Order: sequence, then C-alpha cells, then structure tokens
Amino acid sequence: MKAIFKKAVPVLEKLEQAGFEAYFVGGSVRDTLLGREVADIDIATSAFPEEVKQIFTRTFDTGIEHGTVSVLEAGEIYEITTFRTEGTYADFRRPDEVVFIRSLEKDLERRDFTMNAIAMGLDGRFIDPFGGQQDMANKQIRAVGKPWERFHEDALRMMRGVRFVSQLDFSLEKRTYEAMQQNIVLLKNIAVERIAVEFVKLMKGEAVKVALGLIQELDMLSYLPGFTDQRAAIQRLESWNLAVAGDDETTWFVVVLAVMPENVGAFLRAWKLPNKLIREVAKAYDLADKHSWSDYELFATGAHTVALVEKARLVQTSETQWVDLHERFEALPIQSRSEIQASGDDIMAWADKKGGPWLKDLLARLDQAIIEGEIRNTQSEIKGWVKHVINESA
Ligand code: ATP
Ligand code: MG
Repeated sequence: MKAIFKKAVPVLEKLEQAGFEAYFVGGSVRDTLLGREVADIDIATSAFPEEVKQIFTRTFDTGIEHGTVSVLEAGEIYEITTFRTEGTYADFRRPDEVVFIRSLEKDLERRDFTMNAIAMGLDGRFIDPFGGQQDMANKQIRAVGKPWERFHEDALRMMRGVRFVSQLDFSLEKRTYEAMQQNIVLLKNIAVERIAVEFVKLMKGEAVKVALGLIQELDMLSYLPGFTDQRAAIQRLESWNLAVAGDDETTWFVVVLAVMPENVGAFLRAWKLPNKLIREVAKAYDLADKHSWSDYELFATGAHTVALVEKARLVQTSETQWVDLHERFEALPIQSRSEIQASGDDIMAWADKKGGPWLKDLLARLDQAIIEGEIRNTQSEIKGWVKHVINESA
C-alpha cells in the first residue's frame, strides 16, 4: 500500500471498529492501479454523516448534504463520504436528492466510469463490480451501466470522459462514445464553473491533442464559453506544447492566446474564473508580444507577469527567455517598491511639501532612478535626489 493510503489507515480502522464498512474509492484507487501519482484520497463508508461525526473528535461539515464530512486525523484532513444513491435527475445535472445507504455496490453504481467505481479495502482487496480493472488494462473509458442514462442524469460526465482521455491517453469505449455523440447538447444544462474545472484539467493532460480532436468531433465547442465556431483556436492549441504550461493561470493564458478574444476580461468572466486570475491574465495578454524588456519595464511589470508571458512563449514556441529575464530581475537593486529606503513621509519632509499628485509622480521617477542606477537606494542619496528634483521643478 502506498504511503498516502497507509497514513489514512487509522481513519478506516476507526470506522470499522465502530462497526461500519470503509473503503478508499474514486480517483485515488484508479490512479494507484495505473501506477500514477495519487494527489488526494477519498474515503467512502456505510456510516451516516451523524455517525461519522460521533467517531471522530475533529470534524467539519464540508458537504454534509451530499454526505461528506471532513475529519482531522494525524494532522491531515480526510473527506469521508457516506455510501449513497442519487434520486431522480430532473434537469440533466446533479440529483434532486441523495439517499444515504449501507451498500457499497449501490454506491459504486452511481459513479461515472468503471475505472472510477473501484473500492479498495484495508486488506488491500479491490472491489470492482463493473470490470474497471479490465477496462483500464484495455485503456478504455466505459460508463457504468447504460451510458445514455448516465449522461442524462449528469451531462458533466461527458466532459469528464474527455478530460480522462486527455489525462490518461485512453479511448472512449464505443457505446460510451456513441452516447456522447447523441447527447452532447445536454452540456448546455451544466454550470460553467463545473465545466471549467474539467476543461482546465483537460488542457493539462498528456493526450490533450487527442482530447481536442474529440471536442471537435463531438461538437462540444458551443458549450465552452467563447469557443463557438472557434475551430481555429482549437487548431492553434493542438499545435502548441500545452504540457509545459503547468499551472491553471498559465493554462488559461494560453487558452486566451489561442482564442484571441476581443475582450479578454469578458471571455474569462464568461468562464466565471476568479477575479485575480482574470486580472493577471489580462495584464499578461497586453504584453504577450513583448520580446525585449528594459530593466525598468521588468521592475514595473513584476516577475510574476513576465514569467507568465515567457511561460506562454515556451508553450507556443518551445523557447523562452525566462532564465535570462529572471536573472536580470533578481539583479535589480530593488525588486519591489517596499524596499525603497525612504517613505512618502520622508519625501514630503525633504521636499517641505504636503502630499498631492506630485508625490505619486515623484515616487515613480524615484523607482526609475534607483533601477537605472542613477542613485543608490540609501536615505542620503534619495534625500539629495529629492531636493534636486524639487529645486529643478520650482
Ligand atoms: P481527480 O483525480 O481529478 O480528482 P476523480 O475521479 O477523483 O479525478 P473527483 O471529481 O475527485 O474525480 O471525484 C471522485 C469520484 O467521485 C470519481 O472517481 C467518481 O467515482 C465520482 N464522481 C465524480 N464526479 C462524478 C459525476 N459527475 N458522476 C458520477 N460520479 C462522479
Ligand atoms: Mg479526486
């Protein structure tokens, strides 16, 4: 058993000692069987949420309505979800009600793909009622049960299917694929936030080119905000090395570079992304074509944005000047304004003037004077420089 599971063994033991069943489930079991890195583990149990809360001393109601209780155990937080079935699906997304149950098999039955419907017990045994291991051996993604019904219950599963194609370099089993072809329109019912989560994971997958091909084949473009009729954008993405993007922010930036929307902010807002990410990407987009940077431009733009621009360049061209630029940035006399050895109050005192627009203006010129080596970043040199500038302008 991998260390990450071993560490969680006491959690399962406690549940079992209290008379309940408990298993590792979901992506962690799948990834372990595939020999892939396991990021976080999910635990499923026959104990109902209230029962889970009685067994552990530190618990948090993270998603209690869905049966998920977080517990703190040996310094880690684990999510424990009660076995459940899902009631009727009136609107092609999320069930109308979840019903807690005591049966593992029924819980596995509601899961999306066979490879995600395998449980692992404390004894290391796998419970795999739908042949997930066989499908994985065949590199196939197969819906649990009738794919048509499963995509009607929750259309996001189609997006997840394509995301797993990208991450695992598997193919979609024939009937699963056909059901997607016939039901792709149901994606219009899915909240954009949920699509975004899958989309960005898809973009970071090793077989992203195959997945991008599927997006076109399955006519998914109209359900991705800002992508309607954007086949050219997909082709650009296909021609780049998306795997080197790494983080979400760079990935979204690269997506923006492929789509070239008229209004970057509006494009990213349509995906309901965090404001901070929108701001960073919009800033980088304005500088995307910049190749040569003066010291002052490096300073004023900031390392984060310059890195973003250069990472995107790496994705697009397999070349980047980031190593050089980073070295130059680190060698600047100051990396941020907070390092300047004089405050606004100091400057007002030296200038013998009250605050006002002049101060902001002067601070900007002070940055530049320090960055360009005109003066050193010391109280005395800054004081001399301020007096000189004030006299000149008087
Ligand atoms: P990742 O490695 O990216 O976390 P994952 O398969 O663990 O992939 P999660 O979103 O963490 O994905 O979901 C955990 C498990 O819950 C899945 O493995 C699957 O069994 C089940 N699941 C998640 N989303 C759905 C869904 N929309 N429909 C059915 N089952 C789902
Ligand atoms: Mg997971």
